[in-house]
Amino acid sequence: MKNFYDVVGHKHIISHLKNAIRLNRPSHAYIFHGEDGSGKRLVADIFAAGLLCTGEGEDKPCGKCRSCLQYENRNHPDVIRVTHEKTVISVDDIRSQLVNEIQIKPYSSDYKIFIVDEAEKMNEQAQNALLKTLEEPPEYGVIILLSNNVSMFLDTILSRAVSLPFLPAEREEIVKFLIQKKHVPDYQARLAAACSGGCPGLAYNSVDSPEFEERREKSLAVLRKAGRLEAETAFEVSREWSKQKEEIKFFIRLLEVWFRDVLYVKSTGRYGKCMLGEEGSYMEAQARLLEYEKIAEILREAEKLCGRLDSNVNPEISFESLLLTLC
Ligand SMILES: [Zn+2]
Repeated sequence: MKNFYDVVGHKHIISHLKNAIRLNRPSHAYIFHGEDGSGKRLVADIFAAGLLCTGEGEDKPCGKCRSCLQYENRNHPDVIRVTHEKTVISVDDIRSQLVNEIQIKPYSSDYKIFIVDEAEKMNEQAQNALLKTLEEPPEYGVIILLSNNVSMFLDTILSRAVSLPFLPAEREEIVKFLIQKKHVPDYQARLAAACSGGCPGLAYNSVDSPEFEERREKSLAVLRKAGRLEAETAFEVSREWSKQKEEIKFFIRLLEVWFRDVLYVKSTGRYGKCMLGEEGSYMEAQARLLEYEKIAEILREAEKLCGRLDSNVNPEISFESLLLTLC
C-alpha cells in the first residue's frame, strides 16, 4: 500500500494532512488542485486510507489493518468515489451519490469519505447542491474535491473548503524518482522530468512511452534547426500542431531546456554539463550563430505562449510567432 513517503514533493501539504490524521481532526471539505499528474489523486487516497486506518502505530495508513486492506482492494464501505457518465457532473450525480449518502452514518469507521474526481466538471446546480452539505456537514463527513481548474468553483464553495495547491515538484526529485522506479538511464530521466512541468505522475507515465519518444523526436527535429528554420517549415509545423495543446506544451518545455543549454555552451564553450549533451554539435553551432538577444527573444515568445495555453486562449497565432523566431 502506498504511503506519504511515496509521494514526490508536496511536503507542506503532506505535513498538514498527517497532522489532521494524528490529531483526528480533518476538515469537512478539501480542494486538492493542480495539474494532471501532480499527485493529488495519490495523496487523496493515502489521506483517506490514513483517516480510516485502525492500526496501532503513528504511521498511518499502516497497510495491514482490516480497514487498510479494504481500502487497498477498493471496497471500503465508508469511501465513496463520486462518478459521472456525461461530460458534466450533474446535480443528480451529486444528490444521489453525495448529498443523500452523507446522511447515512459510516458503516465501520469514524469517517465517511467522499472523493470527487474532476470536480471542476460540477455545473452550477451541482455546486449549489453540494454547498448545502458544506454548510451543515455531519460530524463524520469528509469531502475531497480533486480539480485541475480551481477557477470553475463558486466562491461560496471555495470559502468553505480547505484549498491545497499541488505545485510543481523539484526537477531533481522527479529525476531521482524515475531512476528508482523505472530504472531508466539518467539522460532519459532528466529529459522526461524537464518536460513534465513538475508533474511526477506525468513524467512517470511518459518516460518510457512510445508517445514520449515520438514527441521528443518531433520537437528535437525543429529545435536542431533553430536559427535557420525555413519559414515554410514553421508554418507547416504550426498548422499541424495547432490543435494539439499537449504537444505544444511539451515542445515549449523542451525548447526551454534546449536554449538554457545553448546559453551554457555560449558562455562556457563546453557542453559537458548540458541536459541535452547528446545534442552537443547542434548546441555548439547555435551558440556561435545566435546572439544573446535572439535567444532572449525566443524565450520571451515561449513564455507568452505558455500564458496563453494556461488561460485557454487559442494558441495558434502565438505558436506561429514562436516558430518564426526560430527562422
Ligand atoms: Zn491501517
